[in-house]
Amino acid sequence: MINQNKMIRKCFSIAVSGLLILLLPAACSKGVLSAASRVEFVMGTLCRIDLFEDGNPALYNRLFTRLAELESIFSANRDDSELARVNHNAGLNAVAVSAELFTVLERALYFAEATDGAFDPTVGPLVKLWGIATDHPRVPADWEIDAALALVNWEELELVAGVKDAPIAGTAFLKREGMALDLGAIVKGYAADELVSILREAEVTRAIIDLGGNIYVWGKKDNGEPWNVGIQDPGAERGDSIGILELEGGISVVSSGVYERFFTGDNGKRYHHIMELRENGGGRRGYPAENGVLSTAVIAASSMDADALSTSCFVLGVEKGLVLAAANGAEILYIIEEKRVLGSPGAMAIFTY
Ligand code: AMP
Ligand code: MG
Repeated sequence: MINQNKMIRKCFSIAVSGLLILLLPAACSKGVLSAASRVEFVMGTLCRIDLFEDGNPALYNRLFTRLAELESIFSANRDDSELARVNHNAGLNAVAVSAELFTVLERALYFAEATDGAFDPTVGPLVKLWGIATDHPRVPADWEIDAALALVNWEELELVAGVKDAPIAGTAFLKREGMALDLGAIVKGYAADELVSILREAEVTRAIIDLGGNIYVWGKKDNGEPWNVGIQDPGAERGDSIGILELEGGISVVSSGVYERFFTGDNGKRYHHIMELRENGGGRRGYPAENGVLSTAVIAASSMDADALSTSCFVLGVEKGLVLAAANGAEILYIIEEKRVLGSPGAMAIFTY
């Protein structure tokens, strides 16, 4: 029975680009992506949008154009992004920024403060140093890690709001040369929220957005039942879920995990992409967090918050993370060592495993 369930789950797992797995029987039974969906590589990840019966080329174009636009603002890897302009001016000038960048930076600072810097949008120098998402990742020397850590400090990101209704939202200033923003832990969530506002405006009845595992379910399934979202089994192949979340539309699920982006060092050890900045759980500062957490999945109406919380709660560990999620009106699941599942009561109530 268990095996059969596993097979069914695997069969229904499609477009698995992150830790979350969409369970869409119709598309799977055809063995191909449904005509009512589109997949593209944007914002450094595989993005899939399912609009079902409301899908049409013009609307898909609009949604993916919006994602490309967001990439051109927020990319930490492109030299011509708005974010790169702030980084290039570190230690030199405050930079006038768009309302979009300002909004996300403000929210990132909120979570930096709430986590006492365990979540930090100025993590850029450390992320670059490790090169984890690049094709040349490496374990840096101690002195390099110390030098990068010295440049990571959210309190030295200064945001000044502009006057109301001015064409620019305000300015952003990284106070020391070499500092760099990296919004990889929050921006896919912001993007999902932006796509949802287009869905709302276009009066789309039901949809699923999956931005590299950053999921938003919208509206009702055709049979009126809740959406099923599988949570990746940390020890298994991509697409094998450890359990299923049942979700009513109008909500986001965002996950962070040890195997989302990682590399294996010469010593055979795996290094993932979420950095320990505060020694919260016994891991080393400047190294990937090692506190027994394998993954988090955060459920909230705001995908931006769910995204920031997924990373924050991952580094904070179970005890502090449960408190932080609750304080921000979110539900959370943790998968910890030995594949144990823990979570907030609201999350456990809708999780089957
Ligand atoms: P996520 O997949 O949402 O958990 O975000 C992970 C990404 O956020 C990484 O690939 C880095 O770009 C960035 N990041 C890594 N560690 C941190 C941290 N401690 N605080 C904020 N962002 C981080
Ligand atoms: Mg995140």
